[in-house]
Amino acid sequence: MTPPDFFALDRSDPLAGLRERFRLPEGVVYFDGNSLGALPAHVPGRIAEVVATEWGEDLIASWNHHHWIDLPQRVGDRIGRLIGAAPGQVLCCDSSSVNLFKALTTALGLNPGRRIILSLADNFPTDLYVAQGLAGLLGEARCELRTVSAGDLSAQLSEEIAVLMLTQVNFRDGELLDMRAITRAAHEHGVLVIWDLAHSAGAVPLALDEWQVDIAVGCGYKFLNGGPGAPAFVYLASRHHSRVEQPLSGWLGHAEPFAFNPAYEAGEGIRRYQVGTPGIIGMSALDAALDLFDATSIEALREKSLTLSSLFIEGLEQRPALAACDLLTPREADRRGSQVSLSHPEGYALAQALIDSGVIVDFRAPDVVRFGFAPLYNRYADVGVALDTLERVLTTDRLAHFRDRPRAGVT
Ligand SMILES: *Cc1c(COP(=O)(O)O)cnc(C)c1O
Repeated sequence: MTPPDFFALDRSDPLAGLRERFRLPEGVVYFDGNSLGALPAHVPGRIAEVVATEWGEDLIASWNHHHWIDLPQRVGDRIGRLIGAAPGQVLCCDSSSVNLFKALTTALGLNPGRRIILSLADNFPTDLYVAQGLAGLLGEARCELRTVSAGDLSAQLSEEIAVLMLTQVNFRDGELLDMRAITRAAHEHGVLVIWDLAHSAGAVPLALDEWQVDIAVGCGYKFLNGGPGAPAFVYLASRHHSRVEQPLSGWLGHAEPFAFNPAYEAGEGIRRYQVGTPGIIGMSALDAALDLFDATSIEALREKSLTLSSLFIEGLEQRPALAACDLLTPREADRRGSQVSLSHPEGYALAQALIDSGVIVDFRAPDVVRFGFAPLYNRYADVGVALDTLERVLTTDRLAHFRDRPRAGVT
């Protein structure tokens, strides 16, 4: 079979022009937008303005004058548009891990009399760690984490479970869960559902309101391109707003922070998820980065993402030299997120050899090499380069150079 003409696909791609709105180094193809989104070209200018003008000249008046005080809600609402949430239900704040802590305590509070958090054993570790920490804090009588395999999930849903905590796109194999169906099944047993959207937001069409999701969290630095350590977000369906408490009751979540009352009183709506002072510089970078999504739609991005990943999977299967790579990601397009994962017995060396050849991927223990597809800036030609480079690395002695390298702290 002749390989597809990747350049022709780029020429007819309606989203091709968006790539120019990012700064990407020459000679590099970047497949790590699922882990750290690329830098939008206008973000450095925006950060410089926030620093030089808003901070440097207007100083503390900027809290009012430049509306810093409302930034977490404004950015939250912009993210809300990407995940199917009406305004007033998403707050940009903290990290996903901290937001998970708030989400879990909220959910347990909404389901009194139940104490079990159900999750998948292969969920992203921070989700499980935070649940373990909470169980330790509350004690076994009030909270217990139970993990099961995906195949056992529906059988485990029962009146005993307080909250189901899942990540929609698995970080290792890229499998996409059916959020609508799982949420509905959980609700039939009175189970509340928390979704981690770390690898979904900005990549997969979502309808949180329509699907009756209770709570969700997600990252700002992955497909949303907010920069390293960008603030995360948390969604809480408005039907729960008046009933929730969360224990990180900081002053900016208070109904009247500037009344300085000694007693805590939760603020209106999603504001009660705010804890302390937001990092304005970082949040402004995310705010600016979200402009890119105004130029297209999540549906169009999803279509391109699936074409990119399908072409990559087809290439893997058609090239005999790549037979040593096992495809971990589901072949069915509607069962995968925006990444393709391979396993290879020398996965770490393979990832290092690819990076050294200008194909930026990452590695997840024990043997997984991940290719993230970011349709805002990845080209079809990048897929061709990735396949050619994989083939070259696996058919020459390139891998040998990386075999005994010690692992870096971040893989
Ligand atoms: C990346 C990722 C996180 C990151 O959490 P932080 O607290 O922002 O570091 C959380 N959950 C999942 C599923 C992730 O992939």
